[in-house]
Amino acid sequence: MKLSWGFVPTLKEDPSDAIMPSHKLMIRAGLVRPLAAGVYSFLPLGWRVAKKVMQIIREEMDAIGGQEFHLPALNPIELWEETGRLRDFGDVIFQLKNRPLVLAPTHEEVICQIAKHHIKSYKDLPQIWYQIQTKFRNEPRPRSGVIRGRQFIMKDSYSLDASWEGLDRSYELHKQAYIKIYTRCGLKFFIVGASTGAMGGSASEEFMVESPYGEDTVVLCDKCGYAANTEIAQSNVPPAKRYPESQPLKEIYTPNVRTINELAQFLNVPTEILAKSLVYKHNGQPVLILMLGNDQLVEAKLLKALGGGEISPMEPEELKNLTGANAGSIGPIGLKNFKIIADMRLKGANNLISGANKDDYHIANIDMERDVKVDGYFDLRKVEEGEPCINCGNPLRIVNAIEIGHIFKLGTKYSESMKATFLDENGQEKPIIMGSYGIGVERIIACHIEQNHDENGIIWDKAIAPYHVHLISVNTENPKVVEVSDNLYEKFNAEKIEVIYDDRMDVSPGFKFKDADLLGMPLQVIVSERNLKNNQVEIKVRKTGERILISLEEVVAKVREILEI
Ligand code: ATP
Ligand code: MG
Repeated sequence: MKLSWGFVPTLKEDPSDAIMPSHKLMIRAGLVRPLAAGVYSFLPLGWRVAKKVMQIIREEMDAIGGQEFHLPALNPIELWEETGRLRDFGDVIFQLKNRPLVLAPTHEEVICQIAKHHIKSYKDLPQIWYQIQTKFRNEPRPRSGVIRGRQFIMKDSYSLDASWEGLDRSYELHKQAYIKIYTRCGLKFFIVGASTGAMGGSASEEFMVESPYGEDTVVLCDKCGYAANTEIAQSNVPPAKRYPESQPLKEIYTPNVRTINELAQFLNVPTEILAKSLVYKHNGQPVLILMLGNDQLVEAKLLKALGGGEISPMEPEELKNLTGANAGSIGPIGLKNFKIIADMRLKGANNLISGANKDDYHIANIDMERDVKVDGYFDLRKVEEGEPCINCGNPLRIVNAIEIGHIFKLGTKYSESMKATFLDENGQEKPIIMGSYGIGVERIIACHIEQNHDENGIIWDKAIAPYHVHLISVNTENPKVVEVSDNLYEKFNAEKIEVIYDDRMDVSPGFKFKDADLLGMPLQVIVSERNLKNNQVEIKVRKTGERILISLEEVVAKVREILEI
């Protein structure tokens, strides 16, 4: 492609709303343009990268026996009602106004519907079905450029198996394929245990890229390698104490005390004897959640503990109406019509202090066993930096990360609700055992840029670079320079070395060099008057800045040698 006619709208300035380097650079290098919040147009250069990423994904999915589908984005709403996910996805699912259709945020339902009609016997299994297709999600906060779009490209695949061992096999095949895909795309990544969230199912792992801009937080142990999303991470933090004797309940006056820290200070006690109350609504019903001291609640853990559905913190006014008290004075004693659940750290604890459901009062000496009717103890708390590792006791580290892929052992949740069954060897009807696996195409591109850029621009790995070579003719007023450059362009094309050619006549050399660094092709081949005098051109390696002078005759071979193509 020649830049004299190619559409590569580069920008000098960063877009004002962008914070992440990948967001700035994808716009500045003319890869994408925003159309609406969370909606981007891919321009020619960006689309070349996306196609390469998709091709790598396709090759590795085909290599594990995946069969490519193309499923409709428009789905009948009944399909989503059947599995209960219309409710689970809530506002995230786009619904159409003029037909009972939704824009699919993922495709388990459609896959199940096909399997239900066409998979009859264990002999039809296993299957791995995949597609690379546009997904729609009404993300509440689309930001970070293409990393969180309301429309984005996902490779989603689904394994269908007759046995749980089969599922383990399909899952492992995907895991290995994903490792190959991300490695081929030149990403540094790690794998963490993850929550199964609204998708249901048993096991799940996420592929993550460490980034200060990541919206996920991951708990890591540098010693034993434990890695888990904070949504499920656990540590070896000790439980609250059980004292030999439980004291009688006692109301204490605590004027103007709202927070756990204020309470600890006011009473001059450690936070470890305070039970913090949080009030949520679960599918419209009130729930009191007890946490120890300053422990933070993880909503994903809460949702799992409550068995899915809709949760939200209760509004202060509603809380006051229901209990007669404000948030800082709520507690488990005498609280009527609330489901009560508690964090594991509170199990068996006594002599605790919590709110009295009366403003400015607390109750002391609460014994969880004697005084509180708890509907269940669960791990609900967020692991904090430095807590001992659940496996080896080493202090844990907490890092921000971007999720680039997710693999799930779904099990039979969807096949049961949609009655996608098969007949086993004994002629018995069984639900198909499913797995579901996703990769975000845009996130691979953006994360690659996050990991491979400098102050001048992008530094593409050759595997997904829009072009291999950026050919620059420096002194276009010299006919010899133009002729040599034109010939090199033809030669690269003939040799199937992908080349973008800056043949512009009206652009200064400095501007061309800046653009070449910004666009970030692995090699720049620079044709100048000065070097041509010695029958030479210059090759610049974008990643290292190394410059090599090479004779005209040898340039193609040298490019092949450096790029190993
Ligand atoms: P997140 O927690 O970041 O919203 P998710 O758990 O909803 O991600 P999945 O449903 O597992 O993601 O989707 C599979 C993959 O699709 C993700 O690993 C990610 O790479 C990509 N993805 C998900 N949501 C988006 C989005 N809004 N924009 C771009 N890519 C996305
Ligand atoms: Mg999401």
